[in-house]
Amino acid sequence: MERGITRREALAVTAGATLGLGLMGATGRGAWAALRGSAPRAGARSRSLRFAHLTDIHVQPERKAFEGLTACLRHLHALADAPELVVTGGDLVMDAFESTFDRTRTQWDLFTRALKDSCGLPVEHCLGNHDIWGWNKAKSGTKGDEKGWGKAWAMELLGMPRRFRHFDRGGWRFIVLDSVHPDGSGYIGLIDGEQMEWLKATLDATPASTPVVVVSHVPIFSVSAMMFDQKKADERAISPSLMVSNARSVHRLLASKPNVKVCLSGHIHQLDRVEYEGVTYLCDGAVCGSWWKGRNEQCDEGYGVIDLFDDGTFAHQYVRYGWVAAANG
Ligand SMILES: [Zn+2]
Repeated sequence: MERGITRREALAVTAGATLGLGLMGATGRGAWAALRGSAPRAGARSRSLRFAHLTDIHVQPERKAFEGLTACLRHLHALADAPELVVTGGDLVMDAFESTFDRTRTQWDLFTRALKDSCGLPVEHCLGNHDIWGWNKAKSGTKGDEKGWGKAWAMELLGMPRRFRHFDRGGWRFIVLDSVHPDGSGYIGLIDGEQMEWLKATLDATPASTPVVVVSHVPIFSVSAMMFDQKKADERAISPSLMVSNARSVHRLLASKPNVKVCLSGHIHQLDRVEYEGVTYLCDGAVCGSWWKGRNEQCDEGYGVIDLFDDGTFAHQYVRYGWVAAANG
């Protein structure tokens, strides 16, 4: 069989040219193809919003992570067709979960400085497991009664009034979930009962004509989470820390609303896409790649650029920003 350019690759090239993006394609096998449900119908839609989705940044003093985040921010601002909004996907710092107060403060200082210096766009944040201070009390040396312990520090610093919330932009509703739940000295991915009630009420109150994008750190569904090397005998097992453990219930609720279009996540540092019963789940790589040590398996350091259209369709690209990992450090 002839190895010419496939239709899928041709569509991806076309989409890239239209979007004016430079480096794309996390896998080396071409960028995401033009996405089902997002292929333009000539003259039928107009773009409502373009935003960048930066997940798993993991900023730290080592490995030039600050310079990497700065390069990523400058890259997205310099796109010929630049986004109007930045949405983060959590794990903004390398780790607060097992870190002392001083180490956590150092990392947050770097994060806030990078944004202050190099980001001129509005930013909406989502919490990841590594943004939570001290849940591992033994390793962090915390007792649990410190000011800012747990999610409080990050929420205050990032201007998050609640651990889950919604906001509206460009005629779309963004629902930002808190997907990290305590489990002993660790965590699991979970949308807890209080949040499920809120999610249902929020979706019920959202007009059917308003399309919805959901953002969580831990994926609700992810093929990469299933393939993550857990060093377990049973290769089919999915750790509850890798994917939302009540995914079935969350999906049932989301899929019951035809205006819920796409759910973005991070956490796995891989790219994948699941389309299931009308909902698209996108696991959107990692700004830091393999924690600033290079690409993570087949996934380069990058960020998502998502176009939302007025007819409820969307388009997604994974954009590499050309980061070369520090040799050491
Ligand atoms: Zn994570």
